[in-house]
Amino acid sequence: MPTFSTDRADPSEQGAEAAIVPRPGVGDNGRVSPSEPYAFDAPRSAALMQRARAVTPGGVNSPVRAFRAVGGTPRFVDSAHGAYVTDADGRDYVDLVSSWGALLHGHAHPEVVAAVTRAAASGTSYGAPTEAEVELAETIVARTSVEQVRLVSSGTEATMSAVRLARGATGREVVVKFAGCYHGHVDALLASAGSGVVTFGLPGTPGVPEAVTATTLVLPYNDRAAVTEAFAAYGPRIACVITEAACGNMGAVPPEPGYNRFLGETCRRHGALLISDEVMTGFRVGPAGWWGLDGAREGWRPDLVTFGKVMGGGFPAAAFGGRADVMAQLAPEGPVYQAGTLSGNPVATSAGLAALRLATPDVYERLDHVSAALGAMASKALAAEGVPHVAQWAGNLFSVFFVDDRGAVTDFAQAQDQALYRFRAFFHAMLARGVSLPPSAFEAWFVSSALDDDALDRVAAALPAAARAAAAARPDSPDEAA
Ligand code: PMP
Repeated sequence: MPTFSTDRADPSEQGAEAAIVPRPGVGDNGRVSPSEPYAFDAPRSAALMQRARAVTPGGVNSPVRAFRAVGGTPRFVDSAHGAYVTDADGRDYVDLVSSWGALLHGHAHPEVVAAVTRAAASGTSYGAPTEAEVELAETIVARTSVEQVRLVSSGTEATMSAVRLARGATGREVVVKFAGCYHGHVDALLASAGSGVVTFGLPGTPGVPEAVTATTLVLPYNDRAAVTEAFAAYGPRIACVITEAACGNMGAVPPEPGYNRFLGETCRRHGALLISDEVMTGFRVGPAGWWGLDGAREGWRPDLVTFGKVMGGGFPAAAFGGRADVMAQLAPEGPVYQAGTLSGNPVATSAGLAALRLATPDVYERLDHVSAALGAMASKALAAEGVPHVAQWAGNLFSVFFVDDRGAVTDFAQAQDQALYRFRAFFHAMLARGVSLPPSAFEAWFVSSALDDDALDRVAAALPAAARAAAAARPDSPDEAA
């Protein structure tokens, strides 16, 4: 998983931040002027990080938040509204992380806040079914390819449960996944590729027994021949293929046209199931997620689908669903066990319902527009400074790969062949000018409908200096040079 990278020391420990002189400038709207860089130091965040490190491994509750891939001090968030997050030092940033894709409508959207406030006032958890859960399931079924759905609390839980269900339903063990696709921290899916094209995976992290990844085949993404070869070699043992519907976790890498359908057809021919992981893309790239952009148009459905992020409206809610006959294998209807104390939690469910109600065709149009505009702006700024890069979209997921421009990035090996030092310099120059990008070169930029023209203007104003920083960066240069 690329975002686990710990390949460089935190420069804040080396005093790199302290060397930079703060030059804040406040504009008419009270926000810091985008033309003036913020101070690089973040004393309150740094102090909080020090406290956090004493009591939490690495100071964070999910590794990518620690900024290890970019260096520097992660900004502790104090509050967030609309398109902006405000850090503990009182600086605000245009937010292109959007809680890693969970927020489609920006922060603290009044309708989401009102829905969760109402729900919480009626009790925060019952451990018994509610009408709202039925409504959320009906909404998911109405919008997507799934016939039945079960609610869970995280994307990891959704993919873990879907894999168990696929294994239980087929009576087979082997799982096929693709290098660079991330499906949460499920043991069987934290596998890295072995040395051959079609070999069983190796544990991607200590703590995962080899016996677990010995039934995971890791293949290159977008490589039909590798899939065909894997089924030729192991077909009768393969329970499922799991794939990101479109990849966001190696940067935005879309499936080649017809690729997902090919996976579905190959699975069907061999009695295996296709699990389409839409935790990131579901309800984000369109009303029906990525499936709306391929399967719905081409007339096919995956067997199982996982959802998360947007469908929780910023709360811990996720789901897996699919064909009714497969879902019928789940307890209590069938023998495959799966359960959750907080599954279908009423507050999370109300947030998800509010977020989905707000996700109208107009919103998706705006998101597409914003993502196209941002990508074009970033690419233009980088090109003006002669920075080699490829700008790429998967629906409204967008990312810049700091690779030589040799055409589209189609798999993880190509995505990894990047000048990461350029991304680090670019990232910090954007952060210094009040724009928060995902702190890893292997992530998509997540847009929200709260990104208005003011926010886009700030991004536009920050880009030329960030592009200059990327151009000036050298493999051994300090990240914060801007
Ligand atoms: N699947 C995909 C495609 C994801 O992007 C993620 C998280 N980024 C997950 C699964 C895991 O979701 P969670 O972090 O909610 O466990």
